[in-house]
Amino acid sequence: MTTPILEFRTVSKTFARGGLLQRQGGVMAVDRVSLVVPAGRTVGLVGESGSGKSTLARIALGLMRPSSGGVYFDGDPIEHLSRRGWRGVRKRMQAIFQDPASSLNPRRSVQRLVQSPLDVHRVGSRSERAAAVAASLPRVGLDSEYLRRFPHQLSGGERQRVAIARALMVGPQLIIADEPTSAVDVSVQAQLIRLFADIQNDLGIAYLFISHNLAVVKHVADWVAVMYLGRIVEFGTRDEVFLSAQHPYTQALLASVPIPDPARKGLGLVRGELPSMAEIPSGCRFRDRCPHAFDKCAREDPPDYEPSPGKRVACHLLAPTAQAPQMHTALIAQTLERKYQ
Ligand code: SF4
Repeated sequence: MTTPILEFRTVSKTFARGGLLQRQGGVMAVDRVSLVVPAGRTVGLVGESGSGKSTLARIALGLMRPSSGGVYFDGDPIEHLSRRGWRGVRKRMQAIFQDPASSLNPRRSVQRLVQSPLDVHRVGSRSERAAAVAASLPRVGLDSEYLRRFPHQLSGGERQRVAIARALMVGPQLIIADEPTSAVDVSVQAQLIRLFADIQNDLGIAYLFISHNLAVVKHVADWVAVMYLGRIVEFGTRDEVFLSAQHPYTQALLASVPIPDPARKGLGLVRGELPSMAEIPSGCRFRDRCPHAFDKCAREDPPDYEPSPGKRVACHLLAPTAQAPQMHTALIAQTLERKYQ
């Protein structure tokens, strides 16, 4: 991996529960997450709704403090940044969210919306800002006709293009994109994915790309982190995760999602329901849904095993002494190879 632009070091986030339950401890939404986003590259973060991935995004954006652990932007800890320090980081780290309709002020024209980061950071004169906005729209596939339009006059895909143009105005090094293609149909999704790729090729921007949609992540990510109930259970290169997944959760997800479906909120047909964060099972948190669970899984939370350099899998089956499920893994790999080619 190249130099990290964003790094989570053993980050945890616990929310206090109200009333009597508070005495029993909090709800752990993020559990000892370590993750690196290299400069100019893409890390895809996948997980079911409620797995903690958006909490992690909010921590990186400074909208929430971690309960423990640290977040580093370009090598510097962000935890104790002053107001002024945050202004500098916000310019270099932008965010794009799922629903641009809620992040774009409906009373502002596209001109004013896209220009707003320049106004906030006092970049250039008024005429220079206006010119920069006009020049920015073609990059996201919109022409100058759009400058006078308002969000309600745009399609979902166009609104997301405006949100992307706005994020690019201050020259960020990192974009945290939280479900950026989930509110549009499959054809627009493909266009946005190409746009994200083109922008990265041209400008060298890194992405932390968060999605419940494995097919989308497969197209954008260099590395993939799979999150389950607050923990990253598998991390590896895109090919490692998509062609030879080793964690039973990742395997189940991949085997059960036949086609991209933007209307679907979950990640597929993994056995059983995602437990509540307040009721994470003892031992391995996936054991109630895992077809390979054995006695140790109820007793011990698996550590991160490193089956190959840079790859991490939190599953007892990967312990050096365990019987590795090689036949099972090979079968799944063959199936996935066919499905995702
Ligand atoms: Fe399944 Fe056990 Fe591995 Fe957890 S540790 S994923 S329960 S085999």
